[in-house]
Amino acid sequence: MRKQIAAANWKMNLTFQNAEVLLKELSDTDQIIGSGQVVLLAVPFPYLLLAKDKLKGKKNIFVAAQNCSENKNGAYTGEISAEMLQSMDIKYVILGHSERRQYNAENNQILAEKINRVFEAGLHPVFCCGEPLEIRESGKQNNYVETQLKESLFHLEEEQVKDMIIAYEPIWAIGTGKTASSAEAQEMHAHIRSVIAAKYGNETAATISILYGGSVKGANALEIFSQPDVDGGLVGGASLVATEFNTIIKGLKKG
Ligand code: PEP
Repeated sequence: MRKQIAAANWKMNLTFQNAEVLLKELSDTDQIIGSGQVVLLAVPFPYLLLAKDKLKGKKNIFVAAQNCSENKNGAYTGEISAEMLQSMDIKYVILGHSERRQYNAENNQILAEKINRVFEAGLHPVFCCGEPLEIRESGKQNNYVETQLKESLFHLEEEQVKDMIIAYEPIWAIGTGKTASSAEAQEMHAHIRSVIAAKYGNETAATISILYGGSVKGANALEIFSQPDVDGGLVGGASLVATEFNTIIKGLKKG
């Protein structure tokens, strides 16, 4: 079975002190992670080492970054490179979150470059894709997401594609309390898998974990994650509450 993954995206939330508290509350979370399951915590950059330290020795919980630069290094004030993350032993990085596409003008081409830097550094990208509301309402969501995948990923080698995670996050469901129905999520996840299969073959497509993101919480995780092509979730708001996030982890398919 594909890896089942619960990924927390803390975004730009929590003070250092609050982050310490939440990490402490999550200190027993490894006890509920089953075989074939993985938990990622994408914390703000300044807390990466704190989180690594607090989770030292915990099995199947990895600290992740929320972004990195498309440039290798140099005069890019305020940016963080994939190589820096690698040197801190960070293994996963979220790329292409819709908030970064919207507020930081990240387009499919820039994301293709970011993905190159991430693979050069030996990290695993968690690549986000998903359509805005008007595209969903016009019924063109499949084409929209397909273009995102083609323009950002289709230059990759098959082995690299096998090493990544995809997160489908319909923009209209992020932070809005509105989730895609489990049928809508399944339909898009199956479409994403078929797009990957058409380019890289069925075997590669079958190995990629595709996460759903958009107002996942304890109360809806089990149903959404039970869909055959949904391999877990990327979780914003609900990942800031330890009990809620732990319930989400318990909703992952069992290995
Ligand atoms: C996200 O940040 O990727 C996300 C899906 O947020 P939320 O769970 O709050 O909708």
